[in-house]
Amino acid sequence: MSSLQFNIDQAADYLARFRESRLGHFIDGVDYIDPAESAFDNTSPVDGQLLGQVSAGGSQSIDRAARSSAVAFESWRTVSGNHRRDILHNIADAIEARATEIAFCECMDTGQALRFMGKAALRSAANFRFFADRAPDAANGLSLPAQQHINYTTRQALGPVAVITPWNTPFMLSTWKIAPALGAGCTVVHKPAEWSPITARLLAEICSEAGLPPGVLNLINGRGEEAGRLLTEHPAIKAVAFVGESATGSLIQAQSAATLKRLHFELGGKNPVIVFNDADLERALDAVVFMIYSLNGERCTSSSRALIDQGIYQEFVDRIAARVANLNVGHPLDPQTEIGPLIHRSHREKVLASFDTARQEGATISIGGGVPELEWDGEFVQPTLLSGANNQMRIAREEIFGPVLTAIPFADEHEAIELANDTDYGLAAYVWTSDSGCGLRMAAALDVGMVWVNSENNRHLPAPFGGMKASGIGRDGGDWSFDFFMETKNVCVALGEHKVPRLGVKAPTER
Ligand code: NAD
Repeated sequence: MSSLQFNIDQAADYLARFRESRLGHFIDGVDYIDPAESAFDNTSPVDGQLLGQVSAGGSQSIDRAARSSAVAFESWRTVSGNHRRDILHNIADAIEARATEIAFCECMDTGQALRFMGKAALRSAANFRFFADRAPDAANGLSLPAQQHINYTTRQALGPVAVITPWNTPFMLSTWKIAPALGAGCTVVHKPAEWSPITARLLAEICSEAGLPPGVLNLINGRGEEAGRLLTEHPAIKAVAFVGESATGSLIQAQSAATLKRLHFELGGKNPVIVFNDADLERALDAVVFMIYSLNGERCTSSSRALIDQGIYQEFVDRIAARVANLNVGHPLDPQTEIGPLIHRSHREKVLASFDTARQEGATISIGGGVPELEWDGEFVQPTLLSGANNQMRIAREEIFGPVLTAIPFADEHEAIELANDTDYGLAAYVWTSDSGCGLRMAAALDVGMVWVNSENNRHLPAPFGGMKASGIGRDGGDWSFDFFMETKNVCVALGEHKVPRLGVKAPTER
């Protein structure tokens, strides 16, 4: 039996239970299905097979989950940081133990290739460990002495929070939010994307089995416009940590205004990779190809705009095209596969439409631009390179969120900065140059939350992650995560000798 067939059979075993019974919610440590709620089909983008039915959460389920989180918060907030650390480490152990199951389910639910999803499951465990180790000190603050007072700050958990996640690498992304929220002492209601609900259920089970008390992590399934909206409107929920499209971020801002929620947004991007002619072009080529064609290009930090020094533009475009021609598009469970199917039929249509737009706008499709011929009837597109483009074209301005790179020439450093910043987004940028001064000047001038110089996206958990402009509000990682999920409190204690103003005491002459 081929290793692909072996993996397909193993994935089928893991997925069988989701086909047999409806995927409901997970509230108070148990499966919860409201019989009055409708359900929708969840199909695999690999071959269209039905993976199961999913509850479309409505007001009763959302209210039940939010109220359960509010009750659980009152005891979880009193659990010591050391104990929270131990539980989060237990969760990390359990994720590692079930990493294959998580990766296989993720591949079939999202179309992401196994070569990336295997690592994503382990990265999720690392996320839990990182915040586990920080949990004991999460409440610690600053000592701010004044002349006649001591001020000190502490932090305390914010309350029950909503975590709303998208369908690209959903398991890993959700742990960036859920791990620090739990480490901080918050309780969480998680709403995963409707196109990729399966691994969120695995995470809820894992957390429960690892000793997380009932109600501390509740899971709600359903559509964004109903389940997601109701969650963002619920008065018991104190904050929303959201990852998704910029337009959805705007909706959530409006929906949660009446209940004055704290918001953290990680949104879209149209990230430039800027290649100067003095760069190590072999390494730059590796990074450019990796950062747009890995994870099917369904990646917020993908380098979807290549800004290339005009002196090397054609040569570099030809070298990218040669690599793209060799990319291995296939079944996500094949260990050789580099690009799998996109998440959903309607997303594939959006990506395919961008090829028509490129043609209408007068760009050149250097390679790709269609649907590959494969034995599986899934949501595949050819990895594509669009050249001869300029920054005013829609293919240079709109997030395509697929394996599609738009290549644009620039004349000098000044123009590179201008083009890079001429976008609504501001998530990430990549700079390739052997001139360290140029790298530093670019890093200072780019209006983005994260700059990588001579590197692909290399994530260091203590470092801040997030975007400017339409790419987000707030930062993840390190202490930034705790700042979002916690309230800072100042305590001011007098040393006993300062003058307290006196009112209601008549002056001696008036007596
Ligand atoms: P999306 O905005 O359509 O959906 C994300 C989540 O929001 C889903 O769970 C959805 O059900 C929910 N939702 C939809 N409408 C809602 C509403 N009115 N109220 C509350 N919740 C609602 O995004 P998507 O298509 O699932 O994901 C792709 C997008 O995510 C891309 O734009 C990508 O760039 C972005 N993303 C950003 C980052 C980052 O770190 N900046 C990371 C990953 C993905």
